[in-house]
Amino acid sequence: MRKYCKDICKTYKAYKDEHSSGYYSEGYKRCIECDIFLNWQGMRCPCCDHILRIKPHNNQCKTRLLKQITRL
Ligand SMILES: [Zn+2]
Ligand SMILES: [Zn+2]
Repeated sequence: MRKYCKDICKTYKAYKDEHSSGYYSEGYKRCIECDIFLNWQGMRCPCCDHILRIKPHNNQCKTRLLKQITRL
């Protein structure tokens, strides 16, 4: 359940460009709490105030991120 989400994030929702390789490469950030990609400059979600995920720098980082997600 999205108990922290106040639907403010919908205002900042990022729309993926057909020609781009992904949200992270476009500089968008992901809020795991709201389960949404945001077009937002801040470090924290404007909606639920959780710290946003940014693009992983390398594969090792990506694997760690994946492990974090599966653990949840
Ligand atoms: Zn939200
Ligand atoms: Zn959020």
